[in-house]
Amino acid sequence: MKKLFLLIISLFILTSCAPAPAEDADDGKITIYASFYAMYDFARTIGGDCVHLYNMTPSGDAHDYEPTAADMAKLTEADMFIYSGNGMEAWAEDVAETLPDTVKVVNASERLTNLDGSDPHVWLNIDNARIQMQTICDALIETDPDFADAYARNMRLYTVKLDELKESYENYNLAGTTLAVTHGAYGYLCEEFGMTQLALEGVAGDSDPSPAQMAEFVDEVKARNVKRIYYDPIEGGKLAEKAAKEAGVLAEKFYTFEYDEQDRDYVTVMMGNLLGNEIICL
Ligand SMILES: [Zn+2]
Repeated sequence: MKKLFLLIISLFILTSCAPAPAEDADDGKITIYASFYAMYDFARTIGGDCVHLYNMTPSGDAHDYEPTAADMAKLTEADMFIYSGNGMEAWAEDVAETLPDTVKVVNASERLTNLDGSDPHVWLNIDNARIQMQTICDALIETDPDFADAYARNMRLYTVKLDELKESYENYNLAGTTLAVTHGAYGYLCEEFGMTQLALEGVAGDSDPSPAQMAEFVDEVKARNVKRIYYDPIEGGKLAEKAAKEAGVLAEKFYTFEYDEQDRDYVTVMMGNLLGNEIICL
C-alpha cells in the first residue's frame, strides 16, 4: 500500500511539476534559450513549469540580433537552444555550430515541407506552428524524459486550441482576398488561406521604400479595392499610416508574433489578428 502511495505521489510530481523558483536553483529542471518570442512562447506552451526558459531577444529584434559574449557564455551552459531557422535568425546557425554537444540544438522548422527559402515567417501559418511545437515537444521529451507525460499532455491540449484557431480563419472565407501590409511577413499565412500578400517592404521589414515604390503600392491598394493596410506594431505604424492616408484607407495592426508586449500566447495573438482587425473587411 505504501509503495502504491509513493508511486502515485511520484507520478503526480513527474507530470505536474512544481512551480518554478524565482531564481535558477539546482532543481533538476532543464534550461532552454529560445531565439525570439514565437519560439519562446512555443517552448513555454509545451514546457510549462517543467523548464527554465529564456527569450534571447526580449526587445524583438530577432532579424538582426547579435549575441553578446555574455549570451554565448549562458548558451554554452544551457540544455537546449531553440530557433526557427529558414533565415529568420541570421545569427542562429553560426551560434549553433559553436555550441558544445551538451546543448541540444532544435531547428523548429526542420520538419516543415512548405519552405520557400525567401520568407522566414513560417510560424504565421497555423499548420507550420503546430509542426514547430510538435518538434519542440519531441525534443523536450528526448532531452528530459522525466517530464515526457507533461510535455505530451501540453501538446495535446494546445492542439485543440490550434484546431479551433484554424477553423476560425477558415470560417472567414479569406480565399481570393488581398492582404496589404508594410512588412512582407505574411506569405505563409496567405498561402494557408488562399490570400494574396501585397507588401510595401521586403521580408525583413527594414527597407526604406522609395517614393516610387510607395506610389506603386498605393496605386495597387486602390486598384484592388483593399480597405486596410496592416503593420506590425513593433515596427511602428508610420509607414502604414502614410500609405493608408495616400490610398484613403485604414492602417491596422497585425502582429507577426516576433514580439508581444502583453506576453500573450500564439492562439490569442492570431485570433486577435483575425477578429480584432475584422480581417473579413479586407
Ligand atoms: Zn519579421
